[in-house]
Amino acid sequence: MRNSVFTFGGGTADGDGDMKEVLGGKGAGLAEMSRAGLPVPPGFTIATHVCNTYFDAGKRLPDAVQTEVARALAKLEKEMDQKLGDAKNPLLLSVRSGAKFSMPGMMNTILNLGLNDVTTAGLAKRSGNERFAYDCYRRFIQMFGEVALEIEMEKYDHIFDARKAKAKVKTDSDLTAEDLKAIIIDYKKLVQKETKKPFPEDPREQLNLSVGAVFGSWWNPKAAYYRKMEKIPDEIGTAANVQAMVFGNLGETSGTGVCFTRDPGNGVKDLYGEFLMNAQGEDVVAGIRTPIPIAELDAILPDAFDELKEVRQKLEDHFRDMQDFEFTIQEKKVYLLYTRNGRRTGPAAVRIAVEMVQENLISTDEALLRVSPIQISQHLSPTLSASSLATLPKLGNGISGSPGAAVGRLAFSSESAIEYSLSGPVILVRKEVTPDDIHGMDVSKGVVTTVGGKSSHASMMARGMGRPCVVGMGQLHIDERENDLWVDTRRGALRLRQGDWVSLDGTTGAVFAGAAKTVEADVSSGFVAQLLKWADERSLVKVRADADLPRDAKIARQFGAQGIGLCRTEFMFFEFDRLRILMELLLATDGVARQSALRKILPCQRSDFVGIFTAMDGYPVAIRLLDPLLNDLLPKREKLMVDVALLPYASLRKKKEIAADYYIPVRELKKSLPELLRRVETLSTANPKLGHRGCRFGVCYPEVTKAQARAIFEAAVLVSKRGVDVHPQVLIPMVDSVEEFENQKRIVVGVADEVLERASKKIRYSVGAAIETPRAALTADTLAKSAEFFAFGPGHLTQLTMGLSSDDYTRFLRDYEEAGIFKSDPFAVLDQEGVGKLMKIAIESSRGIRPSIGIGAFGSHCAEPGSLAFLQQIGVHYVSCSPFSVPMARLASAQSAIMAERARS
Ligand code: ADP
Ligand code: MG
Repeated sequence: MRNSVFTFGGGTADGDGDMKEVLGGKGAGLAEMSRAGLPVPPGFTIATHVCNTYFDAGKRLPDAVQTEVARALAKLEKEMDQKLGDAKNPLLLSVRSGAKFSMPGMMNTILNLGLNDVTTAGLAKRSGNERFAYDCYRRFIQMFGEVALEIEMEKYDHIFDARKAKAKVKTDSDLTAEDLKAIIIDYKKLVQKETKKPFPEDPREQLNLSVGAVFGSWWNPKAAYYRKMEKIPDEIGTAANVQAMVFGNLGETSGTGVCFTRDPGNGVKDLYGEFLMNAQGEDVVAGIRTPIPIAELDAILPDAFDELKEVRQKLEDHFRDMQDFEFTIQEKKVYLLYTRNGRRTGPAAVRIAVEMVQENLISTDEALLRVSPIQISQHLSPTLSASSLATLPKLGNGISGSPGAAVGRLAFSSESAIEYSLSGPVILVRKEVTPDDIHGMDVSKGVVTTVGGKSSHASMMARGMGRPCVVGMGQLHIDERENDLWVDTRRGALRLRQGDWVSLDGTTGAVFAGAAKTVEADVSSGFVAQLLKWADERSLVKVRADADLPRDAKIARQFGAQGIGLCRTEFMFFEFDRLRILMELLLATDGVARQSALRKILPCQRSDFVGIFTAMDGYPVAIRLLDPLLNDLLPKREKLMVDVALLPYASLRKKKEIAADYYIPVRELKKSLPELLRRVETLSTANPKLGHRGCRFGVCYPEVTKAQARAIFEAAVLVSKRGVDVHPQVLIPMVDSVEEFENQKRIVVGVADEVLERASKKIRYSVGAAIETPRAALTADTLAKSAEFFAFGPGHLTQLTMGLSSDDYTRFLRDYEEAGIFKSDPFAVLDQEGVGKLMKIAIESSRGIRPSIGIGAFGSHCAEPGSLAFLQQIGVHYVSCSPFSVPMARLASAQSAIMAERARS
């Protein structure tokens, strides 16, 4: 039988840090810290698998587990030299949850277990602090009652507040021991009333019920929602950690706090955190009192501060990663309550990974694996533009909880946030954020709280979710009933209502009224540039960008794209003036009209290509020839029909209005509306995606292919004369057969030879085929006889292979996912089994014919890490994705290479 209970403490442990699956993250951390000689209060962990057994056995701990618990408890009593339930020297326990993956605040904890009327008297005597003992007792009855007996917290608060009023005191700490005793009597009455049973005085019964309650909290709604959001499986369960209590509330030489071994916001290497003196439990985390920055501990308890600095170093040397730990100081002595790899923002993750390599703590491979592609994307998140802020009234500065900029409309509750989020960006503004607000945070662009510090739930959750967050904005006064908020600024009081716009800068902690403009960031300098450089050195698949215009090409280079994998020539026309020319081309009914349109197109395209080639100096640029989706480009047939029918009855003014509605001036085209309608009817196809598109267009209108080739090679000659290192790759769109391909290639090569010869320039170029139909994939070996490279369009290929329209498959996507038919959205995550197989066949068969054939892929699948790993595995040389996805793809590509190497060895 496998062990269910693992002890830790006193410099040893049954388990260790690698046993997260069995011990949960917290249990594994406690075991490992104990082994590393860090000061951890001793205890034992009941393994995660018992969570399932507990439910299977009808919410009961199996006898075998109970025996193990009894043995571990005896050991703990010996270690502490205290006994559970002892009248003179009682052992007090905490019972804590902790799953494999950290779910902070989502499950239950019970503190001060073991107290009853007898042991509390004993504790009072022993500690010489009666108030302390009865305060612990009342906290325990309250927590235990809420968690194990499911009595609403409010009912306790009611009793507590009533007593405070009666005693005429403002703060909790002004209540005397006698007040607390009176509260305890009322609390017990409450328990009797709610459960029809007296409060359980037997510590063993308390322990049993508490362990059960901790397991039970695995299934509370907020924990379940959190798991769904973080994709944590339901079956893994939580462990229960039973641990000796330490007290941060024993007076002015005691306290409690939360620290990070480096700044989780920006990664700076220094002890970072905050604490409260004379406090216990979750006082810091819950954000009820605003805590003090950790540096100030130096002045209060210098020895404890030095000890913490040592702890910082030991933790990092031992865990080789940034740690998030909680400590309690009991009468000057430091204890650690947990440690875990600290959550961090993208910029912090990058800086920490890079600096840890420089400190020889980790290898570059480890650094690359430590940062997720999503975290890289946080580097691309915009910041508030300084000039636009100048005009906005500032609401004030709070504490930076999580960096980044956010602009949105005010919502004072999670419910309103969800509602507003349906129509635009939302900023959630609350007194404090509890784990119950997780859904509200999820839909918000940013979060502001009026209380709490950097380690409050709000900050931690925001950092984990990558949401900018400002906390401790004490100057904001929220009136939820009135749905408004006011603040005194230097310019006078400012009142905002729910739904008004606000802007926040989570990095500096500033909050503004109104919507600020944002500016994009870049990744070409600093730590992120270093990490991405390592990534490029490690990658097997090069990352290029999809870019259609010189502007996009420049951004792509800034983001480190090593070329362009897809330049869609049709996109060059998506500007009003140019659309007109394209329209002219498409609507032309004879060669002469077409030539005239093409003559206008040529200079536009040439100048774009010049810009793109220049931006991509030294890197390949794959240009896909015109692939028109005619129905999208032409005037809408239905509208034309209505207008043509109305025309005979319209006034002169109305006629002009109708004509002006078509973005090609009809007169310029020398066509009447009925003629236009006729032409549109001949051109539009029932199924545009399977219609007259791709190379089929160029086959029927060879002069279009010719003109584009001319634009490409004339531009290439131009920039090459200026010293640009240019590598054009001409991509024939949506090829089905080798005959089609050769037809188009002949035209391209003919033009290229002519242009290059006339300029007496030698420019290396290649002509390749876009593999976007299953037939092309299946006959790739034949195509490879004349195609010099292939570029897969996994999007199109998915569409045609699965018979799925990317325009409206979302109608049943949900149902398919829920029914388990789709594991994921096939247009986001490549279908490796089907579409991937076609690609594999294409690559393998074509290599038999042309071993050195270049192979690329373009489109949104390319930046998806799982799909990218697959593309690497089947031998794709480059992928191409949107410029903003390039940094993520660079990292994902390196990670795939490292993982593949690890899998082989
Ligand atoms: P969570 O995972 O929900 O954060 P924890 O296990 O961290 O729950 O427990 C919540 C809080 O209870 C801790 O942050 C700590 O302040 C307090 N606590 C837990 N165990 C002990 C202990 N042995 N002694 C003193 N305080 C404890
Ligand atoms: Mg905690």
